[in-house]
Amino acid sequence: MTSSRPFNFAPGPATLPEPVLRQVAAEMLDWQGSGMSVMEMSHRGKEFGAILERAETDLRELLAVPGNFRILFMQGGGLGENAVVPLNLSRGGKIDVVVTGSWSRKSAAEGRRYADVQIAADIGKGYAIPGDWALRDDAAYVHICTNETIDGVEFHDLPLLTNGVPLVIDCSSHLLSRPIDWSRVGLAFGGAQKNIGPAGMTLVFVRDDLLGHALDICPSAFNYETVAANHSMYNTPPTFAIYVAGLVFQWVKALEYAGKRGLAAVEQRNIDKAALLYGALDASGLYENRVDSSCRSRMNVPFLLRDDKLNESFLTQAKAAGLLSLKGHKSVGGMRASIYNAMPLEGVQALVSFLKDFESRHG
Ligand code: PMP
Repeated sequence: MTSSRPFNFAPGPATLPEPVLRQVAAEMLDWQGSGMSVMEMSHRGKEFGAILERAETDLRELLAVPGNFRILFMQGGGLGENAVVPLNLSRGGKIDVVVTGSWSRKSAAEGRRYADVQIAADIGKGYAIPGDWALRDDAAYVHICTNETIDGVEFHDLPLLTNGVPLVIDCSSHLLSRPIDWSRVGLAFGGAQKNIGPAGMTLVFVRDDLLGHALDICPSAFNYETVAANHSMYNTPPTFAIYVAGLVFQWVKALEYAGKRGLAAVEQRNIDKAALLYGALDASGLYENRVDSSCRSRMNVPFLLRDDKLNESFLTQAKAAGLLSLKGHKSVGGMRASIYNAMPLEGVQALVSFLKDFESRHG
């Protein structure tokens, strides 16, 4: 079925796979003969139990999550985790943060409320992930944001920490877009509202040995050990978001592209979409993305127009051409195209033709 909907480049909440939206609509009043919408079901009933179990199993399979990691379906979002992680892991001690953009900078600021935070390296006003990290061997963990949604900076390889200090990754905006090297990670978290489903759900993947060290002041509903022991059912989980996420996981598993299937297909499609868009930006005289090619994000592509005065007409004309939500974050200005998993190749092709057409008229 071809869609007549415009292409939505929003950074999150973001576009979702259309087949998933259609299925959600079809099941809205009566989920599989239960007589209820998923929104109306008890989280402790057998119907929702099956939905949660399938979602978790599919996610574990898709991302090849090892058996010594727990997957937690929580609430609170990425910013919530900036407090929840130190409450659970810092033991009131030291946290080293590598700042590569706005989100890791925010994590460092929030962490200071609970622990001794040191900036181990800082991208500052630069466009490449800094080397030479000043890491402390007695830190409770090192925090990085593996995809900076605003700045468009992505780690294409996770750092290998050789001092045994766990690595915590905020992978909110590229979670499920590529595999994760779990051998380098102690804890990963991400809000759902980019690649996974509706806002309101936060995924946490935590290695077993990091459970059980929460500070006394940590709220029970945010204590990872408690949440894990109760299979994400200590409090009422975000049931509807989990259901939609489960459908997205099934969609990813079935996706085929370039002779690949599942997460490998999604990743290849993301690589191709990003190459197409960066290629067009680099070839133009009007648009510019400044991020170093070693760490350009496959998910969030910020770009500036050489003449700021064209921004408004760019956005108006893009909207008229069926290309929505291209305005950049207010802190950096310009434009940003977020091209998450659910953005089809045709969406990026349409954007690239628009970029060329606009440049031919205004360049
Ligand atoms: N981290 C990253 C990388 C993000 O992109 C965002 C949201 N855009 C957040 C954290 C904050 O997430 P939330 O608004 O769900 O708290």
